[in-house]
Amino acid sequence: MIVLKTSRELAVMREACRISAGALQVIGRAVEPGVTTAELDRLAEAYILSEGATPNFKGYQGFPATACISINNEVIHGIPSKHRKLKEGDIVSIDLGAQFEGYHGDNAATFAVGDVSEEAKRLMDTTKESLYEGIRMARAGGRIGDISHAVQAYVEAHGYSVVRQYVGHGVGTSLHEAPEVPNFGTPGRGIRLMPGMTLAIEPMVNAGGEKVKVLPDGWTVLTADGSLSAHFEHTVAITADGPQIMTVA
Ligand code: MG
Repeated sequence: MIVLKTSRELAVMREACRISAGALQVIGRAVEPGVTTAELDRLAEAYILSEGATPNFKGYQGFPATACISINNEVIHGIPSKHRKLKEGDIVSIDLGAQFEGYHGDNAATFAVGDVSEEAKRLMDTTKESLYEGIRMARAGGRIGDISHAVQAYVEAHGYSVVRQYVGHGVGTSLHEAPEVPNFGTPGRGIRLMPGMTLAIEPMVNAGGEKVKVLPDGWTVLTADGSLSAHFEHTVAITADGPQIMTVA
């Protein structure tokens, strides 16, 4: 069931989203060669708690941390570790959210660790821009497929592929709720978009093929061909005045 939020509900949810965005910013500023992914995770958790919210990934289906931290060929759901240090030239995808007064925010970004290759930069830029291409189509009266297609078309025009096995989602009083928001699809198809819908739009883009595999830890998703992957995400509200990005710090 798709839940439409009232403007009062959106106001509370905007606070959850603001805290989610703030936590991502805090982590982003701390990304540098030598830092462990566990240290980054701790910073995000401390920030979220200091804002009176709770990290909504922690404990979700047993996930052990505040942030998913995925390096290079890892796509999503990487587990922070005190044994894992970022290195110059890595790209690191960080996905996290906060719950505040019963509402959830969810956002992600890929960061460069020091100087990265031109190819890595282009992948990150393309993925970020594909998110905004999708957001632009998050308009009342349109369809989910309009968002999906906009992301896919932009990514594929740049020679990359979108991950199909994992998709964006509705978000609200649950971290994941209906509808699914695939990063591939056909314009004019799928659920009709209505004011009050809140969607986590989150392109996961591989430099190589779309196929992914999961590590034996049961969480970490990697590209099957070992190519780099990037991930950007915003929580977006559909309003009568057009799409509104909620995850802004
Ligand atoms: Mg998400």
